[in-house]
Amino acid sequence: MKKYKSPSKKKNYWPTKLAVISFTILLSISSFLTYRIYKIEYSKEVLQVKEETSDVKNQLESMINNSLNVVKIITFLTEKNFDETDFESLSKSLLEKNEYIDATQLVKDYTIYKTYPLKGNENTIGYNINADSLNKTKLFEAIKQEKIFFEGPIKLVQGGDGVIGRQPIFKDNKFWGFSAVIIRTGNFLKKIKLNNSGSSELFEYQIVQKHTDLRGAKFFKNKANFNDGIVNKTYLPSGDWYLYVKLKNPQYGKKALEFFISSILLSLVISIYLRKLSQDPIKLEELVHKKTIDLEKANQQLQLRAKELSEVNKELEHFAYVISHDLQEPLRMVTSFLTQIEKKYNDVLDDKGKQYIFFAVDGAKRMKKTILDILEFSKAGKYTEEKELIDLNEIVEEISGFYKNGYPNGILSYEKLPMIKSYRSPVFQVFQNLIGNAFKYSKPNEAPIIKIRIIDMSDNSVTIEISDNGIGIEQEYLDKIFVLFQRLENDIHIKGTGIGLAIVKKIIERLNGTIWVKSVKNVGSTFYFTIPTK
Ligand code: ADP
Repeated sequence: MKKYKSPSKKKNYWPTKLAVISFTILLSISSFLTYRIYKIEYSKEVLQVKEETSDVKNQLESMINNSLNVVKIITFLTEKNFDETDFESLSKSLLEKNEYIDATQLVKDYTIYKTYPLKGNENTIGYNINADSLNKTKLFEAIKQEKIFFEGPIKLVQGGDGVIGRQPIFKDNKFWGFSAVIIRTGNFLKKIKLNNSGSSELFEYQIVQKHTDLRGAKFFKNKANFNDGIVNKTYLPSGDWYLYVKLKNPQYGKKALEFFISSILLSLVISIYLRKLSQDPIKLEELVHKKTIDLEKANQQLQLRAKELSEVNKELEHFAYVISHDLQEPLRMVTSFLTQIEKKYNDVLDDKGKQYIFFAVDGAKRMKKTILDILEFSKAGKYTEEKELIDLNEIVEEISGFYKNGYPNGILSYEKLPMIKSYRSPVFQVFQNLIGNAFKYSKPNEAPIIKIRIIDMSDNSVTIEISDNGIGIEQEYLDKIFVLFQRLENDIHIKGTGIGLAIVKKIIERLNGTIWVKSVKNVGSTFYFTIPTK
């Protein structure tokens, strides 16, 4: 027998390996993507800060340009010796057009000489702007370059703080003084749309003088550290300022981390799922293996039982043979002595005694028939002869001859039957038993009509039908009639041993054929059998 080979007795680590490999690959991909996201998000936020810086710078530059226009007009008219009394009306109209400028000034040499509006700014008149040594270099630089410069944020002489933009004035190519605009811190911040904390929802701001940088005076009160984080710094030459803008809450790190954590989780889930998927076929294989082993065991058991059964069968057949063979001799003795008694003591015996002897002889005869049938049964299916070509028509014809005298009105008809290659005596016995029964179980007052037909014929087998119009068999007994010694109760008056059909069945099955029956009580029976023809 072919032995089933186990798929693998060792524990299968492949699913775990697959899971680890896929997790490692997914983790590498996740790390790479996280790095890309980190970079992209970082660049996005840097760009955001740069855009904001450029926005604020634009506002500042627009303010500086407007202030420049104001001081330029004052400078131009001063250089052209305009009536200084016009300073007030000119400044008034300039201030009306530039709301964020708080005041204008004319400085002769380094002393403030006129201020508009004068009200509230009186103490500026006569103030020497050169007093502050820090400003000196800037003032000289502005004179040298002949351009506006901004100072601030500073404490204003008139109180409060703000920025001052000044432009040098030259008359007859000689330094004359300055024209100036004063922008208070409040207006300055309004113009650049910020409050004095220097903090918006997203950003922190700071404006410082270039020479002091973050160590010096600051525009805004916030305490943000501009040396750290996403910071952008830009220089504004007109005020000599640095503008710092910082992103309050950078998100690039958080976003990258969030992505990394979720991708690790996803990688884990995918790897576990892959492990499970790859485990299923292994489980299936194990199941098939287990079932195959079970089947193998069952098969072995079955073969063992079949062997045992065939041995028991052989023993039984041998037993039946020995018994039936050995019983014949004593039975013959019984019959012969009874016959002797009948002959010798015929005169002495009264009618009762003669009747008893008759019953005893009859019983012995029946017993002999049974013994012979059992012997027949035990021999059925064991053929020593060779297969030969048999003409079934001849067989039926021969058997039909047996019953001509017993049933003179009986009709046995048959179709042309085939020639088959088989064992003659068992085939003969099958036909004889079935035809014999058809006659035997015919109705007492009706001529038996028996028909033999071919109902199926193939290359290898033939199916034959033998039907009669006899007494029939009740449905519930149909299964029983092929069993050894089974006779139907209502046929008890018809002689028989209940072995004939058992022999027929045994012969047909040994020839690899089948037999079955259909019958209707009081109408007739039809026996079918299939036997090989080669
Ligand atoms: P026997 O004829 O010796 O009793 P069989 O084995 O030949 O034994 O038949 C078994 C039983 O089947 C018979 O007793 C009978 O009741 C029934 N039987 C067999 N052939 C027919 C038939 N052609 N018509 C009706 N009954 C039948």
